[in-house]
Amino acid sequence: MSYYPSVIARPNSAGFAGRTVHTAGPPEYVIGLLTWLYHGPFGRDLDAMQRFLINEHPGGWSQLGDDPTADTGWNNDKQFGRDGFVCYCHGDRHKTLAPFTQDSDATFVDWLYVISADGIDVSQADWGDSEDFNDDTPPAWRHLGRVGWDDDAARIKTIVRSVTSPA
Ligand SMILES: [Zn+2]
Repeated sequence: MSYYPSVIARPNSAGFAGRTVHTAGPPEYVIGLLTWLYHGPFGRDLDAMQRFLINEHPGGWSQLGDDPTADTGWNNDKQFGRDGFVCYCHGDRHKTLAPFTQDSDATFVDWLYVISADGIDVSQADWGDSEDFNDDTPPAWRHLGRVGWDDDAARIKTIVRSVTSPA
């Protein structure tokens, strides 16, 4: 089973900074979810969405959800089978991590979603020819496509297809 470990980030002058998501789900799910969050709960307020996803949860995420107003706190008594956002910094856990950036070790992260006014830029860790896990060289991020916030469903589907089955 793949958990699709991912990073949700915002762009900055050096590259990007964001938070990891342990079990993000496949890209078609994440793209749909982020698009919903932008138009629905955050009412097109990108800054509020970035603050919630990146600034306010310095421990990063176990999983994402569709309702940012619900309790996101980790619960030691219910670690599995929960719906919605679960973070590592509220509730029973109090983790604080440095932001994940272009310089972070991406060994255990496969997908990168950079959210900006332009939409969602989707990248995948590219290991090149190296399949040696003892190789300390971090992977490059290969940009696969951008989904605009106002792209229509047909265009989003085209992009999602190209992302999930890259040439
Ligand atoms: Zn938190």
